[in-house]
Amino acid sequence: MRAIPPTAELVIIGGGVVGAATAFYAARAGLRPVILEARPRLCTLTTPASTGAFRLQFDNEEETRLVGRSAYLFNNFAEITGQTGYDLGLRVQGYLWLTTEEEGRERQRRLVARQHAWGQTDIEMLDGDEVRRRFPYVGPDVIGGRFRAGDGFLDPKALTLGLARASGAVICTDTQVLGFKIGAGRVRAVETARGRIETERAVIAAGPLSGVVAAFAGLDLPLQTVVRQKVVMPEVPEVPAQAPMTIDDDTGAHWRPALRGAYLLYTDPETPPTPPAQDVPTDHRFAFRLLDPASPVSVARVTPFWRDVWQRASAHWLLQAGQYTMTPNRRPLIGATAVEGLFLNTGYSGHGIMGSPAGSELLIDVMTGRRRENPFRPGRAFLPREHDRL
Ligand SMILES: Cc1cc2nc3c(=O)[nH]c(=O)nc-3n(C[C@H](O)[C@H](O)[C@H](O)COP(=O)(O)OP(=O)(O)OC[C@H]3O[C@@H](n4cnc5c(N)ncnc54)[C@H](O)[C@@H]3O)c2cc1C
Repeated sequence: MRAIPPTAELVIIGGGVVGAATAFYAARAGLRPVILEARPRLCTLTTPASTGAFRLQFDNEEETRLVGRSAYLFNNFAEITGQTGYDLGLRVQGYLWLTTEEEGRERQRRLVARQHAWGQTDIEMLDGDEVRRRFPYVGPDVIGGRFRAGDGFLDPKALTLGLARASGAVICTDTQVLGFKIGAGRVRAVETARGRIETERAVIAAGPLSGVVAAFAGLDLPLQTVVRQKVVMPEVPEVPAQAPMTIDDDTGAHWRPALRGAYLLYTDPETPPTPPAQDVPTDHRFAFRLLDPASPVSVARVTPFWRDVWQRASAHWLLQAGQYTMTPNRRPLIGATAVEGLFLNTGYSGHGIMGSPAGSELLIDVMTGRRRENPFRPGRAFLPREHDRL
């Protein structure tokens, strides 16, 4: 919109996947949302930097259930949203976690037993030979893996724009939120660089900048932002196009087919948090860490064809970066704050594409009083995370 509306039933701050999903479920609940996005276009900060992958292999039951609901939307997008013009590029090719170590195998066994106990019985434990029978490109050192065929990946931009369109929301781009008007402990208005919008309800869905926006209302959120990079290799003939997301479970390095090549990632646990940024820096050494077979986190460790790609030395690549918005246990903050009418939908860490549709549905249910139980409520105690590096 050229002019911002003077009033709104619900203001959503942020036009990434979380803001768009919030708008979609708000509209389904009968609310008329307004999305405020600081940038000139929706979906131009963290969401497009992501890998767009989703899985039901977690180290906790809450996220398993959450992503299960999101996956239903991904698999039935056109029917549920009524949008036929957005091709999600859905590829249900699975998630394969590989290990070369006995200890890793034991860890996988324990985790899969828990996942089965949560009802996710379609996660398979495969021995090394079975892994190579199904995925011949896996190397001889791999002694086993865990696999779920129903996991997959999609285009996060198509998802975001499709949800935004389906919401019918008023969308105001180039509209930076600068503060809130709060009276008697509740939200009265949202202040933007283009004027004020009177409202009784607002949702902070500002990705890595959520902490900054919350501070305008005097809130101190338990969030840290950490740079995550992605190697984009548009053309790599060696990459099997039907491969699942393939993860070295011993190091955390992973890749998945994309374009006519692959995306490659590694979530280095040693990366220190840095302040929220509009321009997220890349580091040229990141690509070498993943691609050079001599690196301890090389993708060639479990999938040796990457050694050939390295030796051939002619493949193009470029780097993309975004920030994970992390809570102490890397599960999102969804729900009300101490300021009445002000809600959070943020902190998804590396799981915002897969988590945000169901997380947004949960938020709207909590907001409208349809659901009380909410394992992601912002004021909860944070239990330590066991083992989930991605
Ligand atoms: C390299 C990488 C790989 C990833 N891979 C995956 C994956 O495979 N699967 C998965 O589920 N997740 C993945 N993630 C995580 C996922 O990308 C994020 O969780 C998700 O994109 C967060 O969405 P968002 O809408 O909260 O944030 P964003 O996309 O950053 O959107 C927030 C928006 O808020 C706007 N904003 C901020 N401040 C203001 C303000 N004051 N006023 C108005 N607007 C404002 C910003 O401009 C921005 O557009 C990955 C992340 C990275 C970095």
